[in-house]
Amino acid sequence: MEPSADKLRGLRITSLDDEEEDDEPELPHQPLPAAAEDYDDDDEEEEAEVMLGLLEEPKRPGLLLRHLFPSKAGGIPAWLDPVNLPSGNTSCCGFCGEPLHFVLQIYAPIGDNEAATFHRTLFMFMCPSMECLHRDQHEQWTRKQGNPRRSVKVFRCQLPRSNAFYSSEPPKHNNSDKPLCAGAALCHWCGTWKGDKICGSCKKSRYCSEKHQALHWRSGHKNDCLQMINSSEASSSVMPAVGKVPARASWPEYKITIDYEADSDSDSCDGDESNSKSLVMQKHSKPDDLMQSWMDQFEADADNQCWAHFEERISREPKQILRYCREPNAKPLWALSAGRPSNADIPSCGYCKGPLCYEFQIMPQLLYFFGVKNEPDSLDWATIVVYTCQGSCDQNISYKEEFAWVQLYPTAPSRH
Ligand SMILES: [Zn+2]
Ligand SMILES: [Zn+2]
Ligand SMILES: [Zn+2]
Ligand SMILES: [Zn+2]
Repeated sequence: MEPSADKLRGLRITSLDDEEEDDEPELPHQPLPAAAEDYDDDDEEEEAEVMLGLLEEPKRPGLLLRHLFPSKAGGIPAWLDPVNLPSGNTSCCGFCGEPLHFVLQIYAPIGDNEAATFHRTLFMFMCPSMECLHRDQHEQWTRKQGNPRRSVKVFRCQLPRSNAFYSSEPPKHNNSDKPLCAGAALCHWCGTWKGDKICGSCKKSRYCSEKHQALHWRSGHKNDCLQMINSSEASSSVMPAVGKVPARASWPEYKITIDYEADSDSDSCDGDESNSKSLVMQKHSKPDDLMQSWMDQFEADADNQCWAHFEERISREPKQILRYCREPNAKPLWALSAGRPSNADIPSCGYCKGPLCYEFQIMPQLLYFFGVKNEPDSLDWATIVVYTCQGSCDQNISYKEEFAWVQLYPTAPSRH
């Protein structure tokens, strides 16, 4: 094994597209001692060290490309397998039927040079409708195994070191890196999903869905289409460039960087409740009255302990948008004691039937970075926890759907 390959393995969920690679923390081999005031039912277990995802604006657009194996949020996905993308109903919200929006992807390889998971990326998508997320959460309690409706979907894609799409050598980051082959043609509107449908007039513009074709038509393809029919060459001025997507079609793009969570001794936020309360609320520039009154009520009830623990952990790094830990003793951090899954609520792997384990969760702070407004019908969540196949099974399907558990804040009585 050459040293550069060793280094690649050492960076677990770190984007390889990083000039400061050497400063990235190495994968820990020893869990931290359990925090004294750990809120959970089985305190006797040691607490696993958690990696936190933070967001950084990319230095230049177009850096977070698939052959650099990025971890990123917003923008368009950097598909690991660029050919066999999820399609049809798999790429759509199970409630409203619209194509899902790309939320984030985490590069999280497992194992050594021989592993089928030498490259491994988890992709999260979501319907931007809060109504759909409510329905998704509601159906969690009645969901039977096998083809449930979802407005949040997570896919796992993995490749061995030797594969048809990428060099078996790590990227050099000197502009010489290239994927080995082109990917599937993508939708010209969302840039996310496969463009299986072609505009009937120009026969050039491609779409994932009729909805995106209609949006593109209304936003200018109506005129461009005619031009494209009349021009002999597929004019590059009219066809959107690869990777360029109308900003309105996706959330803003960020690179995800990884940091380790500090242990509880290194801060002293515990005493200042009013201060720590604002941390989770920071996406609300001003906490609205509704939320505030709920907060006041909430603080008096039995969830107090759970909330206090949640806030203490968040306060160690208020900008965390995700928490990642695949250690066997890892547990999700819950904001509320209500709305957590029991063991029976977590299905087995839909492919190998083996157990799923907690791998990561996304935090409400992500909404702030995505510029989601704090309005009654805006997208919001307490946390969304992702469980993945413990064995990272390698089946014939390129994008295997994993399981997400949605925990929302209690709904105000005036809604639904
Ligand atoms: Zn929907
Ligand atoms: Zn589309
Ligand atoms: Zn056209
Ligand atoms: Zn499996």
